[in-house]
Amino acid sequence: MRDANTTCDVAVLGGGSAGYAAARTTAAAGLKTVVIEGARALGGLCILRGCMPSKALLYAAEVLHLARAANTWGLEIPKASFNFKAVMARKNAMVEEFARYRRHELSSGKFKLLRARARFLDAHTLALSEARGRAPKSLTAKYFVISTGSVVAPPPLPDLKNIGFLTSDEALALPRLPKSLIVLGGGPVAVELAQFFCRFDVKVTLIQRGRHLLRDCDADAALVLENAFRREGIRLFTNTKLLGAFRKGRDKGIVFQFRNQIRRVAAGEILLALGRIPATDGLGLEEIGVKTEYGRIVTNGFMQTNLPHIYAAGDCTGPRQIVHIGVEQGGIAARNIIAPGKKESIDYRLLCSVVFTDPQVAAVGLTEGRAARRNIPYLAASHPFNDHGKAMIMGTRDGFVKLLADPGTGGILGGACVGPMAGELIHEIIAAMRGRMTVGELAAMPHYHPTLAEIWTYPAAELEERLKAEAVTMQ
Ligand SMILES: Cc1cc2nc3c(=O)[nH]c(=O)nc-3n(C[C@H](O)[C@H](O)[C@H](O)COP(=O)(O)OP(=O)(O)OC[C@H]3O[C@@H](n4cnc5c(N)ncnc54)[C@H](O)[C@@H]3O)c2cc1C
Repeated sequence: MRDANTTCDVAVLGGGSAGYAAARTTAAAGLKTVVIEGARALGGLCILRGCMPSKALLYAAEVLHLARAANTWGLEIPKASFNFKAVMARKNAMVEEFARYRRHELSSGKFKLLRARARFLDAHTLALSEARGRAPKSLTAKYFVISTGSVVAPPPLPDLKNIGFLTSDEALALPRLPKSLIVLGGGPVAVELAQFFCRFDVKVTLIQRGRHLLRDCDADAALVLENAFRREGIRLFTNTKLLGAFRKGRDKGIVFQFRNQIRRVAAGEILLALGRIPATDGLGLEEIGVKTEYGRIVTNGFMQTNLPHIYAAGDCTGPRQIVHIGVEQGGIAARNIIAPGKKESIDYRLLCSVVFTDPQVAAVGLTEGRAARRNIPYLAASHPFNDHGKAMIMGTRDGFVKLLADPGTGGILGGACVGPMAGELIHEIIAAMRGRMTVGELAAMPHYHPTLAEIWTYPAAELEERLKAEAVTMQ
């Protein structure tokens, strides 16, 4: 028999990365905390169907690619091949290891875990349905953190529903490879999976609606990736308009407009990777008056909705779907619940992104595109990897690093990196920006030789020189 009602201090809707971060923080402060998780499997998107499985597969693809290019370094690997089942088995084992740890954390008794789907009945009460185990029928709480994540955006072409398609969920768990694949989309998930499949010998066609891949990046960065993709054999169409989908025998196809022509391409499978939308449908938010914009829960800097006792964190509130942002937001929501007077606020100055393709694409802070749109004055300098010792040793010559500086103070406003290990290298600029360093200070910082990291000293020194020259002219 399910209890009619239970009460607590904090109810957290969703036990993914953001929800778990919030719950462990409020529970550690002694608040009676309940996490409500509606999924069949515990773990959240990042572990089960997001960051971890995709990066495990991409790493395997990179090793295969390097082995096939071994003669670059004078090595002879007669035939680098793969066993796809073994690749997937290794990925599955890793995902299970991470999920086991998260299951343990969620069930360790620090807070109560209820396996049910939650919906607001009123501003302080949740109805719990589809209960697994012994969840009560409803839950009353003083505070709420909504961290229900995101779901795949519905297909823009009605025909796609009829002919069927893969989402990233299925693409990361395929029992066997399709012979060919159409990828719809040009965001991080689309480009990472396109390259993964291409490197595992699938004929990949990528169709992107926007002018460039990775629309949040500057065009110069996207162009490097586009050139690398074309060189690897990915058929790439950008600046397109999707018109329809069709079936041709066993194959599936897409009709689209490209350079004023109607094009038709067919392949063994279609991967729909046009983005994810906040998972807020059916939560009863409209009924209780929580403000949303296109499904996204609107929050202030304290992660508070317009109802001050209801907070939101993670993919359901944005502004980006990035796991460490969700974790930070969850922690901030929790600390503002624990000590409301302190009003801790999130700072998006260090908002960063990493795309785990080869070359990797990473950025932090201001981009040139955003600076231009917002009329923010800046100085920019960049340096290419094909003129950099360590990159030449590694045989990876694509890409560049770029720094943006405040023309008045020399403070670092942003950084971008397209190239080898960009996801690691960008952390030097995150650290520098966190410490509010100037380009002069970055240029003067010791850098070991020969490392990839020392490449940052070139644009930093160039900007420092330009700032000095401008200061002299002003005198
Ligand atoms: C293929 C792929 C690769 C990615 N790679 C990266 C990466 O490399 N780096 C990165 O930073 N990010 C990456 N992401 C994004 C990252 O996974 C997400 O930003 C992050 O996992 C979101 O965490 P969350 O806690 O907001 O949501 P989730 O982890 O999705 O958790 C939400 C939880 O809420 C539950 N829930 C929903 N509705 C209800 C309800 N009504 N009642 C109860 N429970 C409910 C869900 O079951 C779910 O478990 C990737 C995403 C994808 C799809």
